[in-house]
Amino acid sequence: MVAALPRSRLAGGGRGYDPGAVLRVFTHQACLEHDPPPGFPERSARLARILAGLRAAGIEPSEAGDHPAAEAAVRATHDPAYVDRFRRAAERGDGLLDSADNPLSPGTWRAAWAAVSAVLAAADWVMAAAGRRAFAAVRPPGHHAERDTAMGFCYFNNLAVAADYLRDRHGLERVAIFDFDVHHGNGTQHLFEERADVLYASIHQFPFYPGTGAGGERGWGAGEGTTVNVPLPAGSGDDRYREAIERRIEPAVREFRPQILLISAGFDAWRHDPLGGMAVSRREIAAWGGRLAALADELCEGRMLLALEGGYDLEALPGLVAAHLRAIENGEAGRG
Ligand SMILES: [Zn+2]
Repeated sequence: MVAALPRSRLAGGGRGYDPGAVLRVFTHQACLEHDPPPGFPERSARLARILAGLRAAGIEPSEAGDHPAAEAAVRATHDPAYVDRFRRAAERGDGLLDSADNPLSPGTWRAAWAAVSAVLAAADWVMAAAGRRAFAAVRPPGHHAERDTAMGFCYFNNLAVAADYLRDRHGLERVAIFDFDVHHGNGTQHLFEERADVLYASIHQFPFYPGTGAGGERGWGAGEGTTVNVPLPAGSGDDRYREAIERRIEPAVREFRPQILLISAGFDAWRHDPLGGMAVSRREIAAWGGRLAALADELCEGRMLLALEGGYDLEALPGLVAAHLRAIENGEAGRG
């Protein structure tokens, strides 16, 4: 099922390509099979409602299926011993993996692989032509997952796996990740903080869970300077976010000159999110989409890959995601 979407009005960009940007949503039905106990915030209804909201908005998600490279890709990014430990815990029927934030249900193992498969399918699709943007509507989320530890609702670090895959299988030399989830992506930072080929840039509430992401964390060794943290105090709203994106994130991404822009898209900076403590409006979350699409047009032939991270206001979440994606399609901000 290929999404039949209107062509973007922002065809063009600064580097001589004019393909007419297109957006496609990828998912995998097994992402819904991870079933934490009642009352757990990261629940399948999040994704089910997002998918229903996208369909209602005229965006038909594509079913990705299992990706043939998923296993090798996960084992390249994560410690293979961790992958085996996760499998054994799932097979035994353990109730948790590593922390109380990581419950195991009968479908958790399969859902974790499904999320990776959808992100990798989206990555392949984006790389096949200029001007392609893809949103991987997946769960469980990924950015807290460390190389050898499950953490913060996350089991496999979906977007980090995709970054390595883009390097290993698609030959990319510079991949930028921007993470606007309200929480800092400790796992993603730690996986890449000693590497020069992946930029990790994050805006997040601080101090806050998971405790990492201070402004002084800038990377190590060869990766010195390719970690960019913009911690913001609780209660920050549209103006502070916009300023941080304009003055910190966009210049860092421009300087890095990525070949693709990856986005850890968490919608929990939304002002009414039950886990976040920020004050960002829906209009602003939409505007980020337009700005980031313009940045991708300017730097990397329009190529963008977004993966769902957090966002826990079940009522608002579908509208936030749809508004953000519509702005990516239409380039509603950052162009005027
Ligand atoms: Zn979050």
